[in-house]
Amino acid sequence: MSKSKRSTVLIVDPNQTQSIEVNTQLLRHLKPILMGLGIATVVLSIGVVSLVIRNYTTTKDNQALRQKVGDLEGYTSAEVNAKINELRKSEKAVLELQNYLQERGAFTPPPQKPIDDGKPNSAAGGPALKISAPMPFMGSFAQNTQNLLEAVKKMPLGLPAPTEISSRFGNRFNPFTGGGGEFHPGLDFRGEIGDPIKSTASGMVNFAGYQNGYGNVVRISLDNGYEILFGHMSEIDVRQGQTVHAGDMVGKVGSTGRSTGPHIHYEIRKDGTPIDPEPFLTLSSR
Ligand SMILES: [Zn+2]
Repeated sequence: MSKSKRSTVLIVDPNQTQSIEVNTQLLRHLKPILMGLGIATVVLSIGVVSLVIRNYTTTKDNQALRQKVGDLEGYTSAEVNAKINELRKSEKAVLELQNYLQERGAFTPPPQKPIDDGKPNSAAGGPALKISAPMPFMGSFAQNTQNLLEAVKKMPLGLPAPTEISSRFGNRFNPFTGGGGEFHPGLDFRGEIGDPIKSTASGMVNFAGYQNGYGNVVRISLDNGYEILFGHMSEIDVRQGQTVHAGDMVGKVGSTGRSTGPHIHYEIRKDGTPIDPEPFLTLSSR
């Protein structure tokens, strides 16, 4: 009977080192298992550690993202609420405008007389027109606004150049002598030679040329009895008969005619009579 070999296993402890004897055969079998277990433990530990790190990082990222989303939500809702409030105000203004136009009868053609009752009428003639139904109140917002815009474009509005007034409408001293009263039928705007002059309304050029006193002048007639006039130009950029739109350039600032220096003489005439253009410069209440 062969004597089974035995190996000594040392358990090293700093305080007390022990030795035990183990069957060598058994130890040989145990060795790969122990090594395998060791490797598995190391791999598992790495896995666990990396999972913990990843989880930690993800949690931090999530917190940061949640914070950002929260911030964005707060910001967006404040922004959106402000816009909604603005829209409500605009809607209210449009409704008031719509109401006003409705009350003024802007959407209802005037009643056409006579109503055909078969009886003779001593004050009638021409084609008979039917009374059309008033426009539906809410149905044609955009169209009504467009019509209003077209009407507004046919009224003089705004400045012929973004500059200051140098002389007002009405009685004034003679700008050449400083004495003797005279009537100034328009507004003067300071300017530099060559500055663009823009039409303050849409209409048709009824005069473009030289006229004593006014120098180079452009007159535009609007189809509601109004006329606008720009004088003392250094250059005229439109011709008689031409259609111009509000904002179109009609010429350049100059000092032609009876003028003490470069400026625009701007007139508004209603049925041929000059009126003060100043109330037409802005819709601002200031
Ligand atoms: Zn003037």
